[in-house]
This record gives sequence, structure tokens and C-alpha cells, in this order.
Amino acid sequence: MPFALPHTAVAAVSRRTDGVVRLHSSDVEGGVVELRVDALLPESDKNWTAYPAGVIWALRDAGHASVSAGADIHLTSTVPTGAGLSSSAALEVVVALALNDLYELGLERWQLARLCQRAENVYVGAPTGIMDQTASACCTAGHALFLDTRDLSQDQIPFDLAAEGMRLLVVDTQVKHSHSEGEYGKRRAGCERGAELLEVTALRDVAYEDLDAALTRLADAGADEEVRRLVRHVVTEDHRVERVVRLLKSGGDTRAIGPILTEGHASLRDDFRVSCPELDLVVEAAVDSGALGARMTGGGFGGSAIVLVEAEDADRVGKAVEEAFGAAGFTAPRVFAAVPSAGARRVK
Ligand code: ADP
Ligand code: MG
Repeated sequence: MPFALPHTAVAAVSRRTDGVVRLHSSDVEGGVVELRVDALLPESDKNWTAYPAGVIWALRDAGHASVSAGADIHLTSTVPTGAGLSSSAALEVVVALALNDLYELGLERWQLARLCQRAENVYVGAPTGIMDQTASACCTAGHALFLDTRDLSQDQIPFDLAAEGMRLLVVDTQVKHSHSEGEYGKRRAGCERGAELLEVTALRDVAYEDLDAALTRLADAGADEEVRRLVRHVVTEDHRVERVVRLLKSGGDTRAIGPILTEGHASLRDDFRVSCPELDLVVEAAVDSGALGARMTGGGFGGSAIVLVEAEDADRVGKAVEEAFGAAGFTAPRVFAAVPSAGARRVK
């Protein structure tokens, strides 16, 4: 269940007729990059241009031949890069939305998200899920997005923290531990193994009420401890999301989300094992200084955490986290408040 940050990636686009794509980002050095649409090849580009080029490739590969005419694309973004906040999805989705308009492709937002995921998986070569792209494409202001990746069904869940006197802080630890990519693959393979042993299509199909029985069954089937931990994380995490959805939809006490966030962090740390000392310290320092709850977000091994606080505690909790980082000898984190904002849109 993601929500969109107020940060934006912006694309200015125009049509061409000569089959050339010209890409420029005001955020990277190196000027304009020119590519031919008919020469785009998956995993051939290790630069930033792979993200926008991948979207064009994915559109063309899905049969939208009109994009072969080419385009001029200028990009600029305020989304922190490599901070676990999905600057890559922001870049992909803004390009997809702009080309959808420019070439009148008539694709719906969830379809654009799928094409962007394909661009990232196949063209860039990063095995990501579809949540970030869907968040960029489909989130609306004042809402979190309840997404079921089994069938891509969505529900917009009212999530207006400011109205209830709360704030959500994002803490970018500014670290990225180098082993993150291989570890992602291992977690994924472990989850697939668990699903296979439990004879379900996805772990999402294991009901929370059946978790103990599922863990026993896994042990009986010879699954190692790691697979059982991964399964326990996924099933309890799905249950936490459902609890939060119920809370928000019933107009219940939104503050009760806090401990659910912190429980989620413990599960990511102890069962899924994708946290790191910096992320653990954000959560510990935030909760110790009075936050309602906190957890890491994104793929883990660095990146960012989110912290739910009473509005009047926001500054104090942010400072406590900064001080804890100083005392631990870690690089100073970046702390900012985020309101659930609108996803991709046309601005001109
Ligand atoms: P995250 O998505 O968590 O920010 P990724 O490694 O998936 O991290 O994506 C970051 C990459 O996306 C950058 O290294 C760069 O290649 C590309 N990128 C993001 N924003 C921009 C931008 N404004 N201009 C050019 N490239 C960008
Ligand atoms: Mg990314």
C-alpha cells in the first residue's frame, strides 16, 4: 500500500518524424543523447537513458507502432535518486504518460504501469515488482493506494494525516549497501519456494488464520528455516496491510497505524532480513523519542524509512534521529515531511 510523494519528475515532449529519440535530463551531465527507436535493444544501456528508452521500447514491443516516429524528451526531477523512493519509476511513468498523450495511444494508467514495469524488468534489466510504477501512475492526493498485485485491483484509501494532526516523515539514510541486488533475488526465490511447497500461486493466497498450519506444513515438507521466515513475513505483512485498510476505511483511530508500522519493521528486520543498522536506528530513535510508529520502506539494505508522528512532535523526532545518527558515526540523514500527493498528471 504505497502513497505518492509530493516530489515530481517532469517531462516536456514533442513529436518527431525521423525515428529518432532525443533524451535530455537537467539532472545529469552529458547533454543530449540520441537513439534510434528501431535500434533499441534490451539490456544494452547501462545509463539513465535506459529508463525512458525502455518505455519507448516497451510501447513499441506492445504494438504501439506510432512511437517509432520518435520524440524529443526533456526531463527534470525532484525525486531523490537511489534513496529507495523510486525515482526510476517516476521517470518511467512520466515518459509513458507523456507519450500516451503525445501519440494518443489511449492506454489506461494501470496499463502504463505494466509497460513501465516491463521496461524496467526487460530493458533496464532490474527485476522489480509493479508497486512503484502503479503508485506513480495511479495515486491520488490525500489517499494511499491499496493494490492487490494478483489481479492489479486497486482501491483508493483516504489517508489525510494533516487533517488529523499527524505528519509523516521520510528519513533518507543516504546509504545503499552494495549487496542489495543479489539479496533481492534470494528473497524472491525463497518466497517462490514457499509458495510451491504450500501449493499456492502466491503467498498472498495463504490466509493469516492459516499461518501456523502453513509453517508446520513447510517444516514437514523439509523447508529450511529461512523459507519459513520469509513466508511468515509475507503473510503477516499482508495482514498488517489489511488491518491498516480496515482502520482507514472505517474512520477508526488513525494513530493505531503507528504500532502496525513498527511491527512491520521488526518483521522486515528479523524475518525478511532486508534492513540494515542505519534503518534500524531510524526506527529505534524515532520510536524512543515519541513517534507513533516507524518502518523502513523500499527494497531495504539502505534507502529510506517512514516515521508517523503527531504534528507537534515532528521537529523533535526528526532531530532525535539526526542526533542518533551523529552519535553512531553515520552519515547525516535527510529528513523531510511528506503528504500523500497526486500521481502522474498532465500539467500543460
Ligand atoms: P530509485 O528508483 O530507488 O531512486 P534506482 O537505482 O532504481 O533507484 O533508480 C535511480 C536511477 O534512475 C538513477 O541512477 C538514474 O539512472 C535514473 N534517474 C532517476 N532520476 C533521474 C533524473 N532526474 N534524470 C536522469 N536519470 C534519473
Ligand atoms: Mg528504482
